[in-house]
Amino acid sequence: MTEKLDIYSMLPEELESYLSSFGEPRFRAKQVFTRLARGEKIEDITTLPKSLRERLKGEILDTLPTLKEKLVSKIDGTVKYLFGLHDSSCIESVLMRYKHGNTLCISSQVGCYMGCKFCASTIGGKVRDLYPSELVGQIIAAERDTGERVSNIVMMGIGEPLDNFDNVVKFLRLVNHPDGLNIGYRHISLSTCGVVPGIYKLAEVDLPITLSISLHAATDEKRTEIMPVNKKWPIRELLCSCVDYYKTTGRRISFEYTLIHGKNDTESDANELATLLKSAFSGTGAPIHVNLIRVNEVRETGFKKGSAESVNAFAKVLEKRGIVATVRRKLGADVNAACGQLRRSAIEKEENPS
Ligand code: SAH
Repeated sequence: MTEKLDIYSMLPEELESYLSSFGEPRFRAKQVFTRLARGEKIEDITTLPKSLRERLKGEILDTLPTLKEKLVSKIDGTVKYLFGLHDSSCIESVLMRYKHGNTLCISSQVGCYMGCKFCASTIGGKVRDLYPSELVGQIIAAERDTGERVSNIVMMGIGEPLDNFDNVVKFLRLVNHPDGLNIGYRHISLSTCGVVPGIYKLAEVDLPITLSISLHAATDEKRTEIMPVNKKWPIRELLCSCVDYYKTTGRRISFEYTLIHGKNDTESDANELATLLKSAFSGTGAPIHVNLIRVNEVRETGFKKGSAESVNAFAKVLEKRGIVATVRRKLGADVNAACGQLRRSAIEKEENPS
């Protein structure tokens, strides 16, 4: 980070001690925090003395994402954003419209280090972690663009949130703050490919968010083939950390399972998954929920999706075994909404301008 001040990453108490260091009264912190969370620029907060605005403007690093490209689905109104950052990196966010409100799917890193074989975000590796301000900034930017409130957040965009642990936890506190965006923890989901030490740490922090585990296979052999992270933290260790998370926080965990044709999508895979989850959580009383989605085909990966019937048959097996399974509705099918694909095409355009 440069010498400049990352003001959108600061909680009111941090703003208070910063502002008081040059003699500003305590109430200024809340004033600044609230107005910044609404997407206002320092220079526009005219209730601040002009001299303070000028001073802050000179000191602040503008970390708010700026709109580079925007695709709106004609089918369901899903909006896919490509945002530019102050160092010219880019990230994606997706706004999904539901009856109960708007959900924003946000990115946690520029690129990703985890190497899942089916995922577009990890091609090219990780460039850097996002600052808390850039995480909040995606919400501020989407709210400014649509003029509508974002009421739910899913951390399922580009990157692995638990590989950016401290910034993500700071972000959760910022976005939940009643003087800021005031989004309840229960309206926030964090999805991880299975960074086990991060799951234990998150349980210790004990914020009532929803944890989602990208499982995608029921045996180590199959999971390692598609998710290299499984070599480091195999399924048994992963599920132990999930049980700990449930026991510590009392929050249910959901499992993501992407069906890839010919890899993990047969009824026998479904039976193995049911046996695995039931035995891992037996005696805990934890409700088990599995979200099923057919793989989004990414040109570079070569994985194919199976038929709609195959996913329904998979769900039926789980349900017969007493596991709640939801087949995810695919939103934004016409706007390339699978995460990482828009950023990939922007990078390709830059590398091969035609
Ligand atoms: N790193 C985190 C969050 C980002 S990925 C994680 O792994 O959970 C969000 C979800 O999208 C994960 O469940 C991931 O496995 C899934 N995903 C990635 N690429 C996909 C694709 N091509 N098709 C379907 N799901 C995909």
